[in-house]
Amino acid sequence: MIPPYVGIIVAAKTRTPDEVAAVIEAGAKHIGENYVQEAAQMQRSLGAHAQHVTWHMIGHLQKNKINKALRTFDVIQSVDSVERAAAIDARVEAAAKRIVPILVEINIGSEESKAGLSPSEHEPFEEYMERCAERISRLEHVRFQGLMTMGPRVGDPEKSRPYFRRVKRIFDRILGLRLARADMRYLSMGMTNSYRIAIQEGANMVRIGTAIFGARG
Ligand SMILES: *Cc1c(COP(=O)(O)O)cnc(C)c1O
Repeated sequence: MIPPYVGIIVAAKTRTPDEVAAVIEAGAKHIGENYVQEAAQMQRSLGAHAQHVTWHMIGHLQKNKINKALRTFDVIQSVDSVERAAAIDARVEAAAKRIVPILVEINIGSEESKAGLSPSEHEPFEEYMERCAERISRLEHVRFQGLMTMGPRVGDPEKSRPYFRRVKRIFDRILGLRLARADMRYLSMGMTNSYRIAIQEGANMVRIGTAIFGARG
């Protein structure tokens, strides 16, 4: 059971528009996509259904895709540096758009294959993240709303627990800074195999594909 305060992002990668339409009809409110192009195509295929949900970018955002991402997504969960946050901020300003909510992605397992700020590159990491948060919170056209992490790929989901716990501690430290313009409210962590543990460790947003749609082909 996922408690009602936890937001569920339906991870739609590799799924067909019919499959995604079915989960929207069943009540899904948030769709996550990894690629700008796939999200835009999914939205076209879904037609009116697409307007009933919010769209979250959960994959790596390339610099040359920012403008298109801003036209396609409501929330960008995968901001992986102060520089990328600043680039998004500048594009939002140029487009005279609404303020865009962002989360900062942490690669808490410091895995080569994953995007996000990683502890191994920025020790002492807790202090580094506080400085990043301060800088990002000062940007005027993005709203810093929290943290996202994949957690390391480990066989036993119980092994992710200390990683999730560390991200929660970083979240709480940033909250404790009481940054004037930040609106720290989302801790997005946990997927099909790990969401129970992530929620126990403080996640209030989970991103789930396999448990909703079945195994990817
Ligand atoms: C695919 C994906 C998920 C969901 O993974 P499942 O194991 O299918 O639940 C969550 N977050 C991100 C960033 C993903 O790419």
